[in-house]
This record gives sequence, structure tokens and C-alpha cells, in this order.
Amino acid sequence: MSDPPRDPRIGIGHDIHRLREGGRLVVGGVVVAEGISADAHSDGDVAIHALVDALLGAIGAGDIGEHFPNTDPRWKDADSTQFLSHAMTLVRRQGYRVANADVSVLAERPRLKAFKPRMVERLSALVGAPVNVKAGTNERCDAVGRGEAIACHAAVLLVCAS
Ligand code: MG
Repeated sequence: MSDPPRDPRIGIGHDIHRLREGGRLVVGGVVVAEGISADAHSDGDVAIHALVDALLGAIGAGDIGEHFPNTDPRWKDADSTQFLSHAMTLVRRQGYRVANADVSVLAERPRLKAFKPRMVERLSALVGAPVNVKAGTNERCDAVGRGEAIACHAAVLLVCAS
């Protein structure tokens, strides 16, 4: 007798980083601007951080800060794709795979529309499933709307891998 199929799992994630002058900005594993960057311990990739939190949430594994503390020198300027790879390892270890993910990036600057196809390609490859990327502004509201920050929401659905 094989185990009965387990229920699907959903997770949500959110992230925000202040923007600062200098450096380069990485979103969804893609360099989207030079001369501006996320104020962060790691590379500050909001899309990947939100996606990692969504994955961790779906498997009940806490949040990104527990797995990759921003006080740990190992993660200084870290490429956030390694956080996503780690989250995917945990997902697979629990017998799940990603069915799909939806990522919504909010930024007044830089404009991200032109980078959406590359973000989709990169993120889909990293999670092994279709990832949709939305890029909007914050309608000039709050810190994101003033161009002081970049934010992201993500949702994932996990299904039984077998
Ligand atoms: Mg973050």
C-alpha cells in the first residue's frame, strides 16, 4: 500500500528593501540596474526573498531570517539564488514540488517591465515550475511610491512530488 497523496500546500511571502545609490540592483536573479542597489546584507533580491519566504511558509519551515540571518557574515553580499536553492532542497525533501508561483514586484524606479521575461526564465528554472512575474508601481504611495524602496509579494502552490 502506498501512502495516500498529501494535500497541496500554499505559501505567501513579502519583502521590501530600501534603495540606495551605487552598486547594482538584482531582482529575480537578473541585474536590472547599475548605479542603484538594495540596502541589504545579501544582494537584496526582493523577488527571490519573497519567493523563498513563500516556499518556506508552504512547508511550515519558518521564514528566511531563520535560515539566513542577516547577522551571519556568510550571507554578506550573498547571491540570493543560493537561498532559493536551499528552500527548494527543503521542499523536495518533504516530498513536494512547485506547481506554480506568482511574483509581484513593486517599484517606482527602475522600471522593470523590460526585464520580466528574463526574470520569468530565471525563476522558473530555479523552482522547476512556471513562475509568473508582475511588475508594477506603487502609484506614488509610501516609500515605494517615492522611489525610496522596492517591494515584492509572492505566492506558491506546492503539490505532492510523486
Ligand atoms: Mg530581503
